[in-house]
Amino acid sequence: MKITQSFIPTLREDPGDAVIASHRLMFRAGMLRKLANGLFAYLPLGLRSFRKVERIIREEMDAIGSLEIKPTVVVPGELWKESGRWESMGESLLRVKNRLGNDFVVSPTAEEAFSALVRDELSSYRQLPLSLYQINTKYRDEIRPRYGVMRGREFVMKDAYSFHTNDASLDAHYEAMGRAYRRIFKRCGLTVIPVRADSGAMGGSGSEEFMVESEIGDNTLILCESCDYAANVEKASCKADYSAPGEAVSGEAAPAPAIEKIDTPAVRTIEELCAFLKTDAKQFIKTLIYRAANVELDLSGAPGCSKLERRRPAPDAPEVYGEAFFAVAIRGDLDVNEVKLAAALKAAEVALAQDSDVERLTGAPVGFAGPVGLGSVPVIADETVTALHDAVTGALAKDLHYRHVACGRDFTPWLVADLRTVKAGDLCPVCGGALYEKRGNELGHIFKLGYKYTKSMGLSYLDENGKSQIPTMGCYGIGVDRALASVIEEHHDGSGIVWPMTVAPYHVIIVPIKYEGAVKDASDALAGELESLGVEALLDDRDERPGVKFNDADLTGIPLRVVVGGRELAGDRPRVEIKGRAEEKGRLVELSLAAKTLSLQVLAEIALLNS
Ligand code: ATP
Ligand code: MG
Repeated sequence: MKITQSFIPTLREDPGDAVIASHRLMFRAGMLRKLANGLFAYLPLGLRSFRKVERIIREEMDAIGSLEIKPTVVVPGELWKESGRWESMGESLLRVKNRLGNDFVVSPTAEEAFSALVRDELSSYRQLPLSLYQINTKYRDEIRPRYGVMRGREFVMKDAYSFHTNDASLDAHYEAMGRAYRRIFKRCGLTVIPVRADSGAMGGSGSEEFMVESEIGDNTLILCESCDYAANVEKASCKADYSAPGEAVSGEAAPAPAIEKIDTPAVRTIEELCAFLKTDAKQFIKTLIYRAANVELDLSGAPGCSKLERRRPAPDAPEVYGEAFFAVAIRGDLDVNEVKLAAALKAAEVALAQDSDVERLTGAPVGFAGPVGLGSVPVIADETVTALHDAVTGALAKDLHYRHVACGRDFTPWLVADLRTVKAGDLCPVCGGALYEKRGNELGHIFKLGYKYTKSMGLSYLDENGKSQIPTMGCYGIGVDRALASVIEEHHDGSGIVWPMTVAPYHVIIVPIKYEGAVKDASDALAGELESLGVEALLDDRDERPGVKFNDADLTGIPLRVVVGGRELAGDRPRVEIKGRAEEKGRLVELSLAAKTLSLQVLAEIALLNS
């Protein structure tokens, strides 16, 4: 391909809104342009690499027996109403109506569509297991699309869904997917950190996320210095750093003095309060009022909940409370993990309550909530709180706190759960080693769904005994755009992209010093030879200075550069210079051997990545 016949609009300057390398370089290398916030167009160069990532994913899916299908992107809203996600997905779901007023969804993911397809075809256990996938457009109305295609609104995802008669079969396919994912990322030249996305320290292999390390990563990863524990902070747990109730507290712990109300004028923050009372944040019970939406947990008998009504968001969905408020109590030095909180409450959504709600429910200005005497909402306590027997907490009135508060004596939580956000320095739940943090981006996710969708969407088959059964299900996603951007994040330098051979838009770039005369003839001949050897070559036939061409060759990151021209070409044994993109210096190769040399190197590099 000649550059003048392609469309590779490289840029000298970084686009103003690009913060990360992949976003900058995809624009500058002429791979990508923006249509609107979160909406991008791949230009020819970008699309070539994109297709290569897709191809690698496709090959690995095919290799484990997952079958590709091509459903539509726009799917009937009815399917989403059946699963209950028409409501629970919130604003990120793009809902549209057609001219007849029927509801549709622009797929953000496709559990519903695949479940519905399989539901219509499934009759016998003999058809299972069945694993289907697509590589297709998704739309999520992300609140803050950012970092180019890393978090777009429209993007392409490979999503696979598998259906099984039993757990062993699901486990086996889930494991095969995990191995396929590792191969996909290796073949793309990506270093990934697989992290557990389930909270269980050891058991439970229900969900695994594949992360790439990134300073701008949206995820915090918790890793152990001493063992291979790795978890998303959303789910990470840690070893208790307190004595559980009933366990001997060191020595003969004296019972705490009676609870006492104290004046704390003009003291607002926990730090100020600690200074004022000469105590430690660890002796403080921080209490936060949360609003939760679509709560499945049974709240009958819970304080302040007698008037709440339950309803079904969808015919087969479980009953939920539309809205409920909770007081979440946690040790003063810790932060609430909202993912754990939502899981404990079985709530679709949790968020800190508005100030006006806090004031209404606690009868005090914000900052004085506490679990003692709080009857308006259920108290949900983190496990750490149960170990506090002489603590300080808000007294539900302005400028007043309680001290000598004992959990179990002065208040009893309605529910106790692990709600803390694990941080660096906490202890590994598996081996007790020190935990540390890294930032990362999620590239892929594999998940044992169990019966969640197959039940709500009414899938069934007849087993060996002619009995009707519900299949169990898994789902497996990889973001193609995000994977491509991550390759650039991992493989670039100050001058541009440094593509791994497997996903490079072209293998070789031919740079004639001046595209005319003998140089032109030699360049054209080399391009032809490479083509016949199956090597993808881009020929820079522009009328530009060599410096400009070299800069663009570095920017676009094509793995092998061949310079044609100058003295080397003129002699009786004409030679060209071959240089790897990451190499400092090139080497001279006889023109007659150049195509073969390049071809061998391309094959070797691809083989290495694919091995
Ligand atoms: P995130 O936490 O980053 O929003 P997610 O957990 O919502 O991701 P999944 O629903 O598991 O993502 O989707 C599978 C894959 O799709 C992700 O691992 C990621 O690679 C990709 N993906 C998800 N959202 C986006 C997006 N807005 N832009 C690009 N890729 C995305
Ligand atoms: Mg995910």
